[in-house]
Amino acid sequence: AGDELEGKPSRFHALMMFTKVDKSVNLQQKFQVAMRSVAKHGRFLEDEVLVLHYVSDAGSQELGEKMLPELLLDATFRYEVVFHDVGALTEKLFPIVEAMQKHFSAGSGTYYSDAIFFLSVAMHRIMPTELKRIVQLDLDLKFRSNIRDLFQEFNHFPAEAVIGIAREMQPVYRHTFWQYRKENPKSHVGDPPPDGLPGFNSGVMLLNLDTMRRSTLYNQLLEPERVARLAEKYHFRGHLGDQDFFTMIGMEHRELFYPLSCGWNRQLCTWWREHGYGDIFQLYYRCDGPVHIYHGNCNTPIPDD
Ligand code: UDP
Ligand code: MN
Repeated sequence: AGDELEGKPSRFHALMMFTKVDKSVNLQQKFQVAMRSVAKHGRFLEDEVLVLHYVSDAGSQELGEKMLPELLLDATFRYEVVFHDVGALTEKLFPIVEAMQKHFSAGSGTYYSDAIFFLSVAMHRIMPTELKRIVQLDLDLKFRSNIRDLFQEFNHFPAEAVIGIAREMQPVYRHTFWQYRKENPKSHVGDPPPDGLPGFNSGVMLLNLDTMRRSTLYNQLLEPERVARLAEKYHFRGHLGDQDFFTMIGMEHRELFYPLSCGWNRQLCTWWREHGYGDIFQLYYRCDGPVHIYHGNCNTPIPDD
């Protein structure tokens, strides 16, 4: 624990949503690719431990417990596994995120069960205060680099940053902010990189829970009135949960976010290329530099290498 106070963590925490996995061969295959690639490329020091957190239902937990030892057989590092009950987390989360759900969820009603899609947004209020930093990862990832290097990105956060996240690589937010962009033709909201603000993708997130707890600004932005005011200003109506919230507040308060390089979340989905944005798609999709993590989002196959 002393080391952690001095900024040299010996326990590295990673969390994945892991529900309905027992019901889906597709998710089981993604889980295998993700965990085998973490094991294959992971390198840690002798006194360090990778703590793997899974947010699960009973059936998925049972399957996870059975599969993990084999998937991590090649790991050269120590690891621990912690399962969190999705029902217990949802109960804590719902009162905090209920008001924002209507702005960032599919459909018209506010469903209790959808609250879990906002876990990252309020993780700092849910997890014990001893937990200072956590990385949240999708299941549809394939690591090509050492997961420990991802944690090193925390050390590059400027003082005000609370979350490290890569940009969205499709023009989805160009679409979402259509009305705001029409009313504000000079704004960069929804524009492609390097000068624009394309929004964020939540497949790989570095959550500095410590600074999330301490940031007055971040916690004010969770208040229902603040969310409603911003959603009105930007005419924002989304259905992608946490990544919509982070994208929207990021337009207003860029300083809260440390931009991860695109190689740490190289998204592969090309859905928007075929749905009206073919002409400008490459401006968003392009990612130069090394790929550390492939993200096979919208069920896109991941290249073998
Ligand atoms: N997920 C899950 N159970 C499901 C669907 C999704 O646990 O039935 C989790 C899983 O960790 C997954 C994440 O939610 O990676 C986000 O979903 P997905 O990656 O399919 O979304 P996309 O990246 O394609 O938008
Ligand atoms: Mn994904």
